[in-house]
Amino acid sequence: MRLCRFDDDRIGLVQGDQVSDVSAALELLEPRRWPAPPGDALIARLDAVLERARLLAREAPRRPLAAVRLKAPVANPSKIVNAPINYQAHIDEAKRDPGIAHGREIKTIADWGLFLKSSSSLIGAGEPIRLRFPGRRNDHEVELAVVIGREANRVPRADALSYVCGYSIGLDMTLRGPELPSFRKSIDTYSVLGPWLVTRDELPDPAALELWLSVNGEPRQRSNTRRMVYDVPRLIEYASSFYTLYPGDLIFSGTPEGVGPVKPGDEIRAGIEGIGELVVRVAPEYAG
Ligand code: MN
Repeated sequence: MRLCRFDDDRIGLVQGDQVSDVSAALELLEPRRWPAPPGDALIARLDAVLERARLLAREAPRRPLAAVRLKAPVANPSKIVNAPINYQAHIDEAKRDPGIAHGREIKTIADWGLFLKSSSSLIGAGEPIRLRFPGRRNDHEVELAVVIGREANRVPRADALSYVCGYSIGLDMTLRGPELPSFRKSIDTYSVLGPWLVTRDELPDPAALELWLSVNGEPRQRSNTRRMVYDVPRLIEYASSFYTLYPGDLIFSGTPEGVGPVKPGDEIRAGIEGIGELVVRVAPEYAG
C-alpha cells in the first residue's frame, strides 16, 4: 500500500495517479497528551490505520495526485539517521573532489559511524527546498529512506527488516563546507521525504532497487541499492547498537555517485524502483 500525507494534514491511499482521502482513519490515533511518547503517533498505529484506510478507500472521495500538495509521509520522526558514505563510487568521487571533501580525509562508514539530521529540516515533495548561502555549493543526494515501524534497540541484522514498516525516497540536501555534516545538512527544508510511504510487503528486498535523480531533465545519479557498503539490515543493526529507534524514525541510507549542485528554480526528479518518483522544486529565491 502507498500512504501519503497531503494538503492540510490529510492522509490518502495512492492508487495510480489518484489519491483516496482516508483521513477518517486518523480517529484511531491516541489523543495527544504531554509529554508525548517518542516517535510518530501515526506510524506507531500504522497497521490499524491501514486496515481502516483500506475499508474507507472503497467509498472515499478521490482526487488526482497532481491536484494535491504532498507533505512528508512521516510527520514527526524522533530522528533522521544518516549513512555518510555508503556507496563505494560516491566515496571515490568524494576523495577526488575537493568541493565535497573540504580538506577532510574520507574514511569509511565503520570509522565515521552515522550522523543525525534535524527532524525540523523535513519537508514533502509538494513543498519547495529553500536554499541558503548563495555563495556556497548546495548539492542533491538521492537515498533510499527506511521507515522504522516499531521500537528497535540492539537489533541483530538477521531480524532487522521485521522492524521496518516501509520505504520512501529521501533527498539529503547538503550544504558543502567545513562544518560538521549534521549542521550543514539540517537547514530547514534540506530533508525531503516522499512522495509517499510504500509498505514493506511491496518491497521484500531493499537490496536490489534502482535509484536515480535528474535536475531539470539532466540525468545526475543512477545506481542500485545492492551497491551499498552497509545494507539496510546492517544499518539498522548499527544504528540500534547506539540508540533506540522509535516508530517513524527514518534511516537515510546513503547516496551513490553523481552528487552535484542545484540552484534556485531547479526541478529535482528522484526515483526508486518499486516506490515511484518524487518531483520537488527548488524555490526561485534564496531563503535570506
Ligand atoms: Mn547523504
